[in-house]
Amino acid sequence: MRQAVLFDLDGTLLDRDASVEQFVSVQYERLAEHLSHVPKSDYISRFIELNCHGHVWKDKVYQGLVAEFSIETISWQTLLEDYEMRFQFHCVPFQSLPEMLTELRQQGYLLGIITNGRGEFQARAIDGLGIRDYFDVVLISEVEQVRKPELEIFQRALKRLGVAASDSVFVGDHPEADIAGAKGAMMKTIWKRNSSWTEAKDADAIIDQLDEIPSILKQF
Ligand SMILES: [Mg+2]
Repeated sequence: MRQAVLFDLDGTLLDRDASVEQFVSVQYERLAEHLSHVPKSDYISRFIELNCHGHVWKDKVYQGLVAEFSIETISWQTLLEDYEMRFQFHCVPFQSLPEMLTELRQQGYLLGIITNGRGEFQARAIDGLGIRDYFDVVLISEVEQVRKPELEIFQRALKRLGVAASDSVFVGDHPEADIAGAKGAMMKTIWKRNSSWTEAKDADAIIDQLDEIPSILKQF
């Protein structure tokens, strides 16, 4: 019987905060003719504040920036389009990402991603990380029309893999969407600890680094 490991994307495989910071810095430089009346550090720090670790969609972030900094020669829509098209070139992986995925594949695990977000954008981010070929299934909430923590999206992924919940593990950073959701689907769970939350009470194991995963799987 094959076993599967499924992952959240943002904050689990993709270092979202580092990626956003790198993107915004480059965006400022590239569009400096429209933005240079705003100090670069202010543009970056305000973007990060408005962004709330990705929990606010970027239309609101750019509307906020344009209004607060009186940006007049470029629209929030153009800034948003620039983000949507170019973020993929600034995707920063967490440490040991390809090595960890390679090790799990060598051990025979089937691999999947379940991510809440927009279809094309999330697909481009996965390509940006260069990890698409490691995965047997990728489920994106906009495409699937169902979001974590709903059981349906976890069950659908397992069905596509042909794996039982009891033979699968979910790795994620969000205590509710990822850990409680996967637990509800009867999967084992690994919480990737982060500063946004103090605990994930449904987690079977806790990691700080991706390279801890292979040895934890052997203990399950
Ligand atoms: Mg996440």
